[in-house]
Amino acid sequence: MDLSMLKPESLMMSHGYKPELSEGAIKCPIFQTSTFVFKNAEEGKAFFEVAYGLREKEESEELGLIYSRLNNPDLEILENRLTLWDKAEDCAVFESGMSAITTVFLQFLNPGDLLLYSQPVYGGTSHFIEEILTRFGIHILPFDASMSEEQVLDTLDKSGMKDKLAMVYAETPANPTNALIDLQMCKRIADAHTTDEREVLVAIDNTYMGPLWQHPLVHGADLVLYSATKYIGGHSDVIAGACLGSKQLMDQVKAMRTFLGNMAGPWTGWLLMRSLETLKARMNIQESNAKKVAQFLENHPKVETVYYLGNITDPNQKRIFDQQCEGTGAMVSFDLKGSEAEAFRFLNSLKLMKLAVSLGSTESLAEHPATMTHAGVPPEDQEKYNISSKLVRLSIGVENENDIIWDIEQALASV
Ligand SMILES: *Cc1c(COP(=O)(O)O)cnc(C)c1O
Repeated sequence: MDLSMLKPESLMMSHGYKPELSEGAIKCPIFQTSTFVFKNAEEGKAFFEVAYGLREKEESEELGLIYSRLNNPDLEILENRLTLWDKAEDCAVFESGMSAITTVFLQFLNPGDLLLYSQPVYGGTSHFIEEILTRFGIHILPFDASMSEEQVLDTLDKSGMKDKLAMVYAETPANPTNALIDLQMCKRIADAHTTDEREVLVAIDNTYMGPLWQHPLVHGADLVLYSATKYIGGHSDVIAGACLGSKQLMDQVKAMRTFLGNMAGPWTGWLLMRSLETLKARMNIQESNAKKVAQFLENHPKVETVYYLGNITDPNQKRIFDQQCEGTGAMVSFDLKGSEAEAFRFLNSLKLMKLAVSLGSTESLAEHPATMTHAGVPPEDQEKYNISSKLVRLSIGVENENDIIWDIEQALASV
């Protein structure tokens, strides 16, 4: 039976799982095991031949279960389900978003290579690029959403290292101001620098849009990365990450994962499978709630600017949004009239929303980027990216929209 024409949300309860292999259990059990028993020595040999690449897989042959650092049913089924949202050939799940991101860097960058990356990126990613990759002789070059394609190409030219370009890495929309990077521009730049000897890869951190509102592979990305801690997990109870792409690239990512040993465990796999069943339902409610919140904020006299994908006025940003985004997301940031004191007063007055970092979860969260998530961004860069002391970032959850707005209203009243 071919179910491939069904929508991902219809398949999240069943795809890739065979109840008859698990005593008829309707749900995939947690395979809490480190190793797997071979039926006979011949089977063990055959599994290892494939795992070590000693021979090509036969048509229809799956990598046999060997050891949970290589594969485990909870991970494999979860990975198969995740591929449906991004229409990817393969997926690898990791113990954190950071481990997915760093594994991709370590697999595809070599000493002497150049990494072109967007700014601002997630704090952990930025630290790994600037402080750790550079220790291994990898050259780095930032660009940002305010730059035109010509300006990015010009910076690349002036770096004198454009023939060393190995990867374009971007996070879009940027956290916390929702500034958009053109995915097709990233692809054009990568293609223009690809030669017979080296393919320049495009890797996109799609955490901010989750698997629902943006599909970078469609716009030319080679690899999509997620902190599955955010929308995919969606309940603030698990840390995990994922990487998706072609079979050929994912084989390499999975090989590096095997040697770094940073795959997710079976519990994480099971929790994420449970989360995926409600992914679309949750994200739809979050998006619709965020729309109401943004509207409310835009009309509030104590609010100066609202940074939200549903109210873009800049024509170039609007063009990028129309080209690559399929939703307006659930992240709303705003400048209060005032500065840190007013922002803190607002945060300390919230009664329903929690004051916490992270995003994409069922509960609404609020935080102060300048002193929290983006405290490590140098002051001049904070200014450049509008991360000011009056900026507050909200991640909108699934609570009743009127209750969320009531909370924001009463907290603003106390400012
Ligand atoms: C949270 C986050 C990460 C890091 O993910 P972890 O699961 O915390 O390791 C990376 N990128 C973005 C955009 C994030 O929001």
